[in-house]
Amino acid sequence: MTTMPIPTRPCPLCGKPRDAAHAPFCSARCRDRDLLRWLDDGYAIPGKPADRGDDEAADDTPFG
Ligand SMILES: [Zn+2]
Repeated sequence: MTTMPIPTRPCPLCGKPRDAAHAPFCSARCRDRDLLRWLDDGYAIPGKPADRGDDEAADDTPFG
């Protein structure tokens, strides 16, 4: 196997070139924002199906 050159991915939050000290983010600010999103449960873990299948109240029609 040959070592493939891994392209430097930008900050996933703002798109700026990330910093090695705050990888994969560009700064501590973006890193903090990401952490806040985690705490706010705004992150969806890939690979795990959504936990929204137990909604029995499906008759919530907006045109009622
Ligand atoms: Zn950023």
